[in-house]
Amino acid sequence: MRMPVIFSGHGDPMIALRKDEVSMTWAEMGKQFLAKYGKPKAILAISAHWYTHGLLIQNMENPPQVNDMFGFPEELYRVRYPAKGYPALAARVQEILGAQVEIDNDWGIDHGIWTVFVHMFPAADIPVVEMSVNGDISAQEIFDIGVKLSDLRAEGYLIFGSGNIVHNLREIEWENPHGSDKTLKFNKYVIDAVKAGDAEKVIHYEKIPNADYAVPTPEHYLPLVYCMGAADGDGAQVFNDVCNLGSLAMTGFIFDDF
Ligand code: ZN
Repeated sequence: MRMPVIFSGHGDPMIALRKDEVSMTWAEMGKQFLAKYGKPKAILAISAHWYTHGLLIQNMENPPQVNDMFGFPEELYRVRYPAKGYPALAARVQEILGAQVEIDNDWGIDHGIWTVFVHMFPAADIPVVEMSVNGDISAQEIFDIGVKLSDLRAEGYLIFGSGNIVHNLREIEWENPHGSDKTLKFNKYVIDAVKAGDAEKVIHYEKIPNADYAVPTPEHYLPLVYCMGAADGDGAQVFNDVCNLGSLAMTGFIFDDF
């Protein structure tokens, strides 16, 4: 069955251990996903936390879990997400993208992915292949790569991007359970653009009011741009329209031919 594309916010990594509105939505979505689409052959997982020179992809049989977060309670480092890899997916991506992508097995499945998947796909029985966010190219080029990868969907692969529409650690307000005014406005603008299928607005995010605040560095935003490309004109449904800690948006989208 042709798979949808999912973009999800991720945030404070402690959410891996927490049952809250956001993580319970992930859990429910995962169940509904498997009931509707069945198990994907593998997941092409694009994480904000693998921000690299060039576009990299892993082809390990058993990718290690990367605990790339610091200063959290011990119990967070004990969370395990032992998904297997799927070298055939990496090979397929190489076939599609040619010299635009390189194999690199120095990373693994990082917290941008596993803190979400422990809730969404807790059985860890779907292979995961991580692909990086290429920091050397424009958002337009990232979008174009997403478009090329959309063929994978009909082959039974789920394309999953993890980042945040608004992500500004310098402006975090630890006591604020909601989003700041700027966060809410930027988040709403992007939601409206995605729902309208307005890829130009999503790609040229730096023109959106408050972009300097919402996207001080692009790595958390760009996974959405890959997903918008891979959506290939499909519609989007919003989940977790939640902003918190002042300057984080947890918003996600599922793209499909609804
Ligand atoms: Zn992050």
